[in-house]
Amino acid sequence: TLEEVDDIKTVVSEAVTNAIVHGYEQKENYKVFLQCEIVNQTIQITIMDYGVGIEDVEKAKEPMFTTKPHMNRSGMGFTFMEAFMDELHVKSGKHSGTTVMMKKKIGVNNL
Ligand code: ATP
Ligand code: MG
Repeated sequence: TLEEVDDIKTVVSEAVTNAIVHGYEQKENYKVFLQCEIVNQTIQITIMDYGVGIEDVEKAKEPMFTTKPHMNRSGMGFTFMEAFMDELHVKSGKHSGTTVMMKKKIGVNNL
């Protein structure tokens, strides 16, 4: 549905923005990897970078937590990903890059 497309656009944008702004700290010519597949009406999207990584993933996921308040970041990216998708998994470590995997059941009445 259009609503599903809209939700997915939002979360992919949040994750890719994070990779560029935080992972690579806006340096140019670094790659962000995106993989997407649909299996049994579940869309699975993975966004990966080889950037600086996240020291404390649980803390980073908290609403309104940001390490860049001076850049007018509101710290809501992960919160949106969690709200709009059914599953969110973040694998990261300092200096080892970040992988964000999200899943959502689509095309069915989620009653
Ligand atoms: P907003 O998304 O609202 O503009 P934000 O990006 O700071 O603000 P989140 O997207 O929730 O908020 O991310 C929270 C924090 O997690 C970031 O401030 C950053 O420290 C860290 N982070 C998120 N994604 C990455 C990444 N790909 N690489 C390194 N750090 C990240
Ligand atoms: Mg963000």
